Amino acid sequence: MHVWTHDRWRFPLPDHHRFPIDKYALLRERVVADGTAAADEVHEADAVPWEHLRAVHDPALIDRIRAGELSVREQRGLGLPWSAALVERGRRSVGGTIAAARLALERGFGMNLGGGTHHAGRAFARGYCLFNDVAVALDRLRAEGEAGRALVVDCDVHQGDGTADLLGPDPDCFTLSLHGARNYPFQRVPSDLDVDLAEGTGDERYLDALGEALDHAVPRAGAEIAFYLAGADPWEGDRLGRLSLTKSGLVARDELVLDRLRAAGAAVCVVLAGGYAEDVRDTVDINAATAAAVARRVSGR
Ligand SMILES: [Zn+2]
Repeated sequence: MHVWTHDRWRFPLPDHHRFPIDKYALLRERVVADGTAAADEVHEADAVPWEHLRAVHDPALIDRIRAGELSVREQRGLGLPWSAALVERGRRSVGGTIAAARLALERGFGMNLGGGTHHAGRAFARGYCLFNDVAVALDRLRAEGEAGRALVVDCDVHQGDGTADLLGPDPDCFTLSLHGARNYPFQRVPSDLDVDLAEGTGDERYLDALGEALDHAVPRAGAEIAFYLAGADPWEGDRLGRLSLTKSGLVARDELVLDRLRAAGAAVCVVLAGGYAEDVRDTVDINAATAAAVARRVSGR
């Protein structure tokens, strides 16, 4: 299966920062070792052109990010220290989602081993998210006449406030977010459908709630393209999440989403979003299992 990565683009972080910068290279190695993707099927994402970011985000915000002129308050909200390398990496993360979305339209599925930066809204960049890759990719596909109606299924443990800000008002895009009721962000922008889950929800109740949410969202969306944010942070061992899903519960989640979306005829673009396990290898396990679930559907294995 073809996938995109930007693992070689790293950026400086303070010691003991929670952002899992090592995850991306480990995940590239892992999907190749698992046989999910051949080494030459892992593609390095291009950096999205600045004008494509300016078409979706507030151009003044994009200019501040480009120039390293975020305010102290914006810096704090972002949670990552600004550097030119951070910005370059963010542009490549968006580029990977655009490429994966194009492949999804061609072949049914596409995956970026990154992306899912759902806390970036039109005029704000926060919660480790500089640019909203999904909103920019959808805008590109539409500009190219490749897709119209869309659905976002956001299963990261945190609510997709940036995506809701950008795509919630869009009548041709349905935004669904399933998340921990008590998780960040504490001031929310409403999605078309938000499902707040209690602390310690666990596999069974989570899968029931997800199935119900998809019953509601999928027919309303009538999507040609769906973006699936397969966050690893609902896992029981996650330092930020509170939902207590097991690894096998997360695989069941992935399979439920992928199969429902394909059954509805949508092309499916999968992105990673968050994951903050104490040992980064647990997050890599979860992300690799998502990639394997996609690959099984690509090959019909
Ligand atoms: Zn998250």
